[in-house]
Amino acid sequence: MKTIRTRYAPSPTGYLHIGGARTALFNYLFAKHFNGKFIFRLEDTDVARNVEGGEASQLDNLAWLGIIPDESPLNPNNKYGKYRQSEKLDVYHKFVEQLIANGHAYKAYDSSEELAKQHAESEAANVASFRYDANWLKISEEEKNRRDAAHEYSVRLRLPKNVIYKWDDLVRGEIAVNSDEIGDFVILKSDGYPTYNFAVVVDDHQMEISHVLRGEEHITNTPKQLAIYDAFGWETPRFGHLTIITNMEGKKLSKRDKSLKQFIEDYKNEGYRPDAIFNFLVLLGWTSADKSEVMSHQEIIEKFDPSRLSKSPSKFDIVKMEWFSKQYMKAMSNQELIALIGSPKDKIWNELFVDTYKQSCTTISELKDNLNFYLNPKQKLNIPYESNEILKTFYSLLLETSFTVENIQQTINRTKEICNVKGKDLFMPIRIATTFEEHGPELAKAIFLFGEEIVLKRIKSCL
Ligand code: GLU
Repeated sequence: MKTIRTRYAPSPTGYLHIGGARTALFNYLFAKHFNGKFIFRLEDTDVARNVEGGEASQLDNLAWLGIIPDESPLNPNNKYGKYRQSEKLDVYHKFVEQLIANGHAYKAYDSSEELAKQHAESEAANVASFRYDANWLKISEEEKNRRDAAHEYSVRLRLPKNVIYKWDDLVRGEIAVNSDEIGDFVILKSDGYPTYNFAVVVDDHQMEISHVLRGEEHITNTPKQLAIYDAFGWETPRFGHLTIITNMEGKKLSKRDKSLKQFIEDYKNEGYRPDAIFNFLVLLGWTSADKSEVMSHQEIIEKFDPSRLSKSPSKFDIVKMEWFSKQYMKAMSNQELIALIGSPKDKIWNELFVDTYKQSCTTISELKDNLNFYLNPKQKLNIPYESNEILKTFYSLLLETSFTVENIQQTINRTKEICNVKGKDLFMPIRIATTFEEHGPELAKAIFLFGEEIVLKRIKSCL
């Protein structure tokens, strides 16, 4: 059997987005499930739109998620050519020349004004939509030669008439488009850069890509790409077009929507676990046959079955994302968590802290925030407070015992008996005076975590 080779081919026009990460992930899983190779390459010919650090952000964030390409611009296999489109313009030119030479492509000398005029005229004449073909531009031979010498032309693919381009989409089943609906399209722009459709076909062919999973916005490109494969007589990969990701209202995720964090970097910076995001992403448009939710990296690779890719849009549910994050936090050992938050405290303290907080925190950052709460304790009580018998009793008992969670608990219990109060009336005066807060974890634990010195000082200031 032929080696499975899949790829993720972003343009470095921005940082790694949820949508791109999901496309990369599905291609990665497809390759890994079938013991194939996953390739990362770059579509960087739209020079004006490239952003500084775009490539590195894509690769670094993928690596953070655990998606390591087998080949990339940093780890190329020279047999397959270059992994950045900007470095292989000569290759595209060579292939364009080949198509011109055998009549599958031609130079189109129209200027953008002439083209715009034609579009306007066909619109006025109510022609459904204008399809370019080699005969429409009428200019003299002389003018043509002038434009040729001045390189004022683009190159278009000559489409055959009434040919059906069809493919068995991995997600959607058979899709077919008639060549007459397309019109001769540009493969090389007048600035010498190939168009996306042309470059992607050359890349996929040279890199022996066997399966292409990409966003559904590319469905209309696929027949054009099939036409290019036909013109070269090349074998086509299999295509699958993933459904869109929407927000909770069912609207397509827009990068401009600031109410949702959409970049992998954001989650990384907030201390989400990469394995939790990996797990969450795979369920954005795929389900395992046994409907499992929490699955390890390896389990996901084993279970991945492309026939279970969803045919309907996937909702990006941040609540679900947080649920995953919590599951992964809870599953981590205390030791791992302690190492991640970098606590300077001793072992007993750290264990108690992590045990107390890991159930309720969604991210490592949240855990760190809670740690800071103890490392940099508030100096002032901001809640009105009057000294009372309960606190006095608690304080004098506390002075007599050694400072452990159990002893603090007993001290609270004895205060309860002596003062004959219970519930909120008992806890609140003690909680506020010791923690300077009205809420927090179990009282005895919170008191212990603040430490004897601070707690005694605080109580004194309240008495
Ligand atoms: N750069 C294109 C994109 O990010 C790649 C499309 C493709 O996979 O063919 O959408």
